[in-house]
Amino acid sequence: MVKTVIHSLIMCLFVAVTSPAFAITGEKAEFIKLDDGVYAYIGKRNDANAMVIVTNQGVVLVDTGNNQPDTRDIAEKIKSVTNEPVRWVVISQYHGDHFGGSPFFAPATIIVHDRVARDIAAMKPYQIKSWRKRFPERTAQLEGLAPKDMLLSFSDKMTLSLGGKRIELFYVDDVYNSGDVAVWLPESGVMHGSFAAYKDRHPDIRPDYSHGTTITMLKQLEALIALKPRVVVPAHGPLSDIRDLQTMVDYVLLARQKVRTMMEKKLALTDIIKQFHMNEFTDWDRSTHFDWMAETIYREFMGLGPIIVTSVERETKGSLSKVLEAGRNLTVTTLDGKEVRLRISSDTNIEGVSDRSVIKAGMKVEAVYKEPKDFNPALGFDVIELTVQP
Ligand SMILES: [Zn+2]
Repeated sequence: MVKTVIHSLIMCLFVAVTSPAFAITGEKAEFIKLDDGVYAYIGKRNDANAMVIVTNQGVVLVDTGNNQPDTRDIAEKIKSVTNEPVRWVVISQYHGDHFGGSPFFAPATIIVHDRVARDIAAMKPYQIKSWRKRFPERTAQLEGLAPKDMLLSFSDKMTLSLGGKRIELFYVDDVYNSGDVAVWLPESGVMHGSFAAYKDRHPDIRPDYSHGTTITMLKQLEALIALKPRVVVPAHGPLSDIRDLQTMVDYVLLARQKVRTMMEKKLALTDIIKQFHMNEFTDWDRSTHFDWMAETIYREFMGLGPIIVTSVERETKGSLSKVLEAGRNLTVTTLDGKEVRLRISSDTNIEGVSDRSVIKAGMKVEAVYKEPKDFNPALGFDVIELTVQP
């Protein structure tokens, strides 16, 4: 079956081999008080962060954890500071490591940007099935429920006034930005800066434009900086502040200038990709992002839209010879000795084990995955269905 797969799917492939060279946050998640009733959950090893806002009308949670154990950990941390239930879940970006924990908090209302709401409404049956199955302990709450049944969405701005706290959500418009949402608490100066606010981490700018473009990033950063936040919770990485946002502006401008200079010298895209680096930021995480950052900026300057990839579904069967990143990246050795590298996402329907973190080398698996056409699958294939024999 041939399918046209737009941006977010390519994005999944890219993530596959981006194991951090080193982790900037610690081996254990931290839960840090930022103000009265406001907490940052800083994910372990640069995994996704979350923000918690406690009000006497219930808890507002921003993002839901990298993987099931992290989601449960966030819920435990919330319980350690309040008896209020999580009643609203804001999704700062529609990627598995931010959205994937949402079923745990059902029947809380999930707040997203309008465009994300449309994407969620278009979720395929296998995605809904895997969403509902992610937390067996929540089966009763999730019966007959799909993510689209729990949504509240907005276009530019939304303000929640809850128990004396003002919580502002906003979106910076861009044709390619699929709905990154920032959260601003004007009274305490605390912000969840979403994707644009990374600290010490090369941004995931990708030629599928799944995080918008560098121009979007600059627009987002400008909007965040204008609010003069005291402390910023980035989507990933350690807490940051307004100076880090400014550093990211400088970073993006420098990256654009480098690509521009190479284009003016008439270098071919392949050479631009080869020569591009951001060694001025050498201690930052995820230098594996360089190739597609260079390509994205090139596409932007050329006035090209996002890369669109067509894929076919394939099946494979064998035993796992390698398991990395808590089961995110798997290598299957097939019965005839071939190696197939797979990427497990929150969309993957996993049968046989509770979640990817318990998958171990040596286990036998069957998988249905997507093979992109005319696109280098060097980073592994996105898996639709994975059956594991423990
Ligand atoms: Zn993320």
